[in-house]
Formats: sequence, C-alpha cells, structure tokens
Amino acid sequence: MPAKKGTKVTPSSPVDVLPGISEARRELFQKLGIETLSDLCHHYPRSYEMRGRTTTVAEAKNGEIVSLILTVATQPQTATIRRGMVLTKFRAFDDTGSVGITYFNQAYLKSTFQVGSTFRFYGYCERSAANTLQMASPKHEPLPINDPGDGSMLPPILPIYKTTATLTQKLLSDAVQRALPVLLSQEEDCIDTELLPDDIRDTYDLCTSRYALQNIHMPPDEASLDAARKRLVFEELLLFFLHIRQRQHKQTKQSGLPLPIPDMNPFYAQLPYRLTGAQMRAIEDFICDMTEPGRPPMNRLLSGDVGSGKTVCAAAALYIALSGGYQAALMAPTEILATQHYEDLLPMFSALGYSCALLVGSTKPKEKKKIKDQLALGELRLVIGTHALLENDVSFSKCGLIVIDEQHRFGVGQRAQLANKAEKLHTLIMSATPIPRTMALMLYGDNGNNRSGNNGGKGTGTERGQMSVLDEMPPGRQKVSTFAVDESLRARLNGFIRRQAEEGHQVYIVCPAIDETEEDFDEERLSNPSTPSDSTKKPTLKAAVAYAQELQNNIFPDLNVGFLHGKMKPQEKDDIMHCFAGGTVQILVSTTVIEVGVNVPNATLMVVENAELFGLSQLHQLRGRVGRGRDKSWCILVSNAKNETAQKRLSILCHSGNGYEIAEQDLALRGPGDFFAAYMDGTSQGDMGTSQRDMRTSSKDVRQSGGLRFEIASLCDDMALVGDAVSAADRIMADDPDLQTEPYRALKKRLSDEEAAAEIFVL
Ligand code: ADP
Ligand code: MG
Repeated sequence: MPAKKGTKVTPSSPVDVLPGISEARRELFQKLGIETLSDLCHHYPRSYEMRGRTTTVAEAKNGEIVSLILTVATQPQTATIRRGMVLTKFRAFDDTGSVGITYFNQAYLKSTFQVGSTFRFYGYCERSAANTLQMASPKHEPLPINDPGDGSMLPPILPIYKTTATLTQKLLSDAVQRALPVLLSQEEDCIDTELLPDDIRDTYDLCTSRYALQNIHMPPDEASLDAARKRLVFEELLLFFLHIRQRQHKQTKQSGLPLPIPDMNPFYAQLPYRLTGAQMRAIEDFICDMTEPGRPPMNRLLSGDVGSGKTVCAAAALYIALSGGYQAALMAPTEILATQHYEDLLPMFSALGYSCALLVGSTKPKEKKKIKDQLALGELRLVIGTHALLENDVSFSKCGLIVIDEQHRFGVGQRAQLANKAEKLHTLIMSATPIPRTMALMLYGDNGNNRSGNNGGKGTGTERGQMSVLDEMPPGRQKVSTFAVDESLRARLNGFIRRQAEEGHQVYIVCPAIDETEEDFDEERLSNPSTPSDSTKKPTLKAAVAYAQELQNNIFPDLNVGFLHGKMKPQEKDDIMHCFAGGTVQILVSTTVIEVGVNVPNATLMVVENAELFGLSQLHQLRGRVGRGRDKSWCILVSNAKNETAQKRLSILCHSGNGYEIAEQDLALRGPGDFFAAYMDGTSQGDMGTSQRDMRTSSKDVRQSGGLRFEIASLCDDMALVGDAVSAADRIMADDPDLQTEPYRALKKRLSDEEAAAEIFVL
C-alpha cells in the first residue's frame, strides 16, 4: 500500500501521505530539505554499500570494509566491561577460517545469533598480530531460507543516504521505496518528463530519466547503478554548464557602469611593499572590466592560494570605484574576518581620504542606524561587513562595486540578495579555493593573458575570461612543515605543543564539530571508526569544547587553553581571538571557524584532529593560518584512518604546499563532483562541507535556492563526463541559444525554475 487511506497521491504530495510518517517525522524530512515525494526521490544516495561483493575470511585484509557470509559457531556471551558498557561476543566461520565478532551495548542480539545460523556481515575488520580476524559491530542480515548459501538472495547493493541523527537510514530508505512508484507511474507529460533530448541521450549513451531514478535507489546490480549514475551526473553537469553558458550569453548583451580610468598612483604609493606581477595583472584586469565602455558589468573571480595577497587586490578594486566617485562594499563570511579586513583597510582608506565603516551583526543598533543612514545618503563611501550588509534596510546612494571574500561561504540566496542591491553593479569575488586549471577554463574561459587585442572593444567578457589568478606568492613566504601522525604519537605531540607555547608561540587545534544539526558528517565514516574497539561512534571525534576542557584540566593546566566555535556569540568569539592574537591564550581549540583569513603571525603550530574528515583544500586553508610570521611553522594532521585513500590524501598535503597542485591531485583522487559541490555551496561532503555549517542559514534555505547543487555529481569519478557535459552544452547553445525549440522545452523550464535562485552564482 503506497499511501495512507483516502489520500490522492501525486509526486508533489507532502511526505506525510506515506504510511509511517507522522507530522512530527515530516519535520525530520524537512530538515533535509525534503517536502514532497518528488523531493524524496531526488534525494539520491550519497554512497552505496557493495554488500554483494563478498570475500572470505582468509582473504579479508586488515583495515578494510568487507562483506562476509558467516555461520555462527559459538553461543554469544555477554560481559559488562565497565559501567554502562556491555560486550556481546561470539565466533563465526566460513570455509576458510573464523572471525571474532563483538557488539557493544546490544545484549539483545544474543538471541539473534543462534549457533548454526548464517548471516551476511558487513563492516570494518581488523587482523591481529596473531593473524586472527575481528569485526566490531558489523551490520548483519540473516540469509533468507531460499538462499543457496552465498547471500545471492540478499540485495547486493545498499543505498546510503545523507541523513540526520534523528532520521535513520532505514526510515529514509523505506520512505524512498514507497515514494518511487508514485513518481515512476506518472504520465509522460507529468512532473518527471525526460529532460534530455533524444539525440543528446544517443550521443552520450545515456539511459532514460525513469530508468535512472529507479536504479539510483534500487540497483539490482552494479551495471544498472553505473548507468543510472552516469545519466544523473551528466544531467546535473549539463544543467550547470548550460546555466553558465546562458548567463554568459545574456551578459554579453548587457552593459555595465563604465567608471572613469583611475589614477592608481596614490594607492600604490601608500603600500608598504611592491605588488607581485600576478597582483598587478589582476588589478589591470579590474581596471579593464570596470572602465571600458560598452562592456558588461564586471563579474570577476579572483582566485589565489592562501597568502597570495588577495586583500590588497580587493583594496585596489575598491579604490577604483571610490576614486571614480562611487561607493563600494566588501563582504566577508564571518565577523572575525570582516573585522580584520576593516582593521587592515581603515588606515589605508582614511589616508586616501575615504570614509569607511564596519557593519556586522553585533554592531550596536545606534551605530548601525547611523551607518545605514550615511550609506543611503552617500556620505559613507566604503562599508565592510558580513551578511548584515544584506539586510533589507541597507541601501546605497551610488554603489559601484561589491567585493565578496570567500564566496563559497555564502549561500546562493544570499549572493542573489546582494546582486539585487544595485543594478549594473560590478562584482569581484575572491576565493582561496584553488580551481584546477582544467575546470577554470570550462567555467571562465581563458584568464586574460592574451589581452592585447582586447576584442576590439566589443566587450564580450567571456572572450577575455572572467577569472584572474594570483599564481605568484609575495616574497619571503616560508614553507609550513606538514606531518600526518596517528594516535600513537599523542604524547609526543602534546610535548611539541607545550614547547611551542613555552617558546612564546600560539597553537591552533582544530576539531571537526559534531552536534545534532551537523548532518553532513558521513554516517559511514562514523560507523567505521579507525579504532574499532571503541564502543560508541562519536567519542572518536574530538568535539571542540569538551576537548578544550580536557586539555586545560589534564594536559596543560599551566597554560591558557581557549576555544572557539561557530555558535558562540560574536562578542565572545572576538574576545577569544583577541586573547589569542595578544598571546594570553596560548592554545586555541576551535572548529573550522578559524579556517578563513584569520591572521595571527605569532601562531606557529596548527594541529588538525580527525584530519581525514576534512577536504584537502580545507586542510590547506587551515594550514595557511600558520607560517605567517618569521618563525618556523608546523602543521600536524592527526588521523587514525588506515584506509589507503585517506592516507594518500593526507600525504598529498605533507608533500605539497601549493594549493593548486593539491586541488589537482584531490581532483584526480576524488573526481570533479566533489570539487564542484564544494565549490558551489558547500552543502555536500565536499571541501567546504564542514565550514559552511558555521554560517549557513539552514539546509532548507539552501534547498530552496535551486537545483544547481550537485546532488549526485559528488559520486562521480569520471572526468570524461564533465567534458561530455561541456560539449553537449556548447552544442545546444550553438543550435538554439535561447532554448526556444521543442527538444529543449523541458531543459529550458528546468533552468528557468532554478535561474532565479542561482542568479549570481559564479558568473
Ligand atoms: P590571502 O590571499 O590569503 O587573502 P592576504 O591578502 O591576507 O592573503 O595577504 C597575506 C599577507 O601577505 C598579508 O600580511 C599581506 O600584507 C601580505 N602581502 C600581500 N601582498 C604582498 C606583497 N606583494 N609583498 C609582500 N607582502 C604582501
Ligand atoms: Mg584572505
């Protein structure tokens, strides 16, 4: 029975039409951005457990996730090892050997595992020195009666969904199973029409939308899953590139606000250093974008590794707008960062004769009102702030430029709001997320190195490219020595931390934040802790606050340990940062709120706990917090993860200090999906996944902001598909740039549904 009695069910019905989903549960689904049955079906699995790929006890390797068909050999025994912890242990075997199996606090399983009964066990296994195999809390399924004994009657592939702590995998996947028939039985022209024209499907060998939906959730084998995934990934990528191409197409028709050609000399004269060649080239790009008549408004991305000196380029851009008689704004994702920019830029712009104010959430109401009034009147020229700048009552008299720092931290919706503040506004987006060159070319075109001809003033922004790259570091940067260590070196690590503090330096310790709302953490990762003897899932992760207390009380009682996390009040955060910068706090335990921009040159050591849970670019960012002063600096990545990919990823960081190189290698290791996902809004498991939480409004908000989110491309590991999607997008644009003809009807509708929300996105 697909639905509750007496309700007419369509794909747009709310999820609580399904049996077993109450009002209260419906809210749990809403937390994931799932309102309707259609949403549910488009909530694709984030990964799969290939339980059908069984192995044998003899072949199971230490530290791997394995699937084994085992028969229970001994009566399960329970023992209480300490208060509140009960172990249930038994042995099970196949033809090649036996395994010791342990469950924690699940004494009821005693009756499940009858001697002689056979199960499929799935989980992390460990081989001891004595060569015996152990599994801790493996997932288990009894073999059905009609199974020939090899598990072939059990489903070979289990979907794993992104979910929250309160909504179990089982509830979610049951709901999907019930919702799918509703979608799949719809008439052709109903909600899920085929988006892709036949010839595109033929050329790129793609299955139908229907087949894809069915098989992405319930694949009978790996080939069907691959076909489904290929199709859905392609579709997402195609929409993404079409969206970009359409925007580029439209932009060439619009014209910006030409500013007078600036005299940059006063600006250059007050800098304490010489700009690098890359910085000069970026500034020339800005001047060209903002001053050339007939050109579309600047919409440029300034990409540069941590420490490459983006801020001063932003200052130059602001100067161009200010000296041209306009107002300008600089928006940063956190108060800490906005304040730091303000403190850096205030002296510069005051000296140049421009008024400048800071507008953040914690600005006093009276001060806020004053700033807003002055902005509206045009008396205030430069405003620096956080998303407080987006409030409805912030209006400018004559704004010429908005600079957005670390744009990935802002939701798409927030960026759109900003764009609406002024038309024809020039925008400069700064990102420390290194974009591999191949990707950059696809997104932005070439980056303006061959500007000489300047396309004859016709000004089609895209021909010149819309990205400037700071590929040159300011002189005198030192390398941060980076090491990956595991728990066995904890005592030495603590000694090292103490030494840094005693030498008068500061130490950052970054922990992955964990709480109920942080659903982005991968359940799979959590359930396969690298220390399988640990009873529960979470204690293997270091939660910032508790860990700070432990360090303060037990390890460094004589030092000052502070902590910082995204949910603290801005004032508290600032106070801690000031104490840290001033040296009264020696050790700062933090979530990734400190990831971007913060500058404490006296900090010489960055320790990252559970480093395997972070994206490489994010780790690189974190590492960028040290090595900013004259003193030798270190980054220690602590991880107990034994699997090969995790180790490989961390070793990339140990061997490279170049963000672009790291991004390229990460791309090769993980595929473009993760990269895009991270780059776009950080709601997926990608690089910015963890940091985004510190400031995003809610997952629902993100959901509503349109479908350009890569639900599935994060599973993709095939670069070729990106190339295919680009060429398909270009082919469609060449054929019908306005998507007016019949084969593109569905695509056009889908894009325009998403358009409004994704408005300002990258280009
Ligand atoms: P990021 O690109 O990470 O935002 P910043 O703009 O914060 O980097 O610059 C990092 C540091 O480098 C700052 O202390 C800044 O003053 C300094 N800096 C920037 N450009 C130069 C330069 N051309 N020569 C010397 N130092 C520079
Ligand atoms: Mg910066």
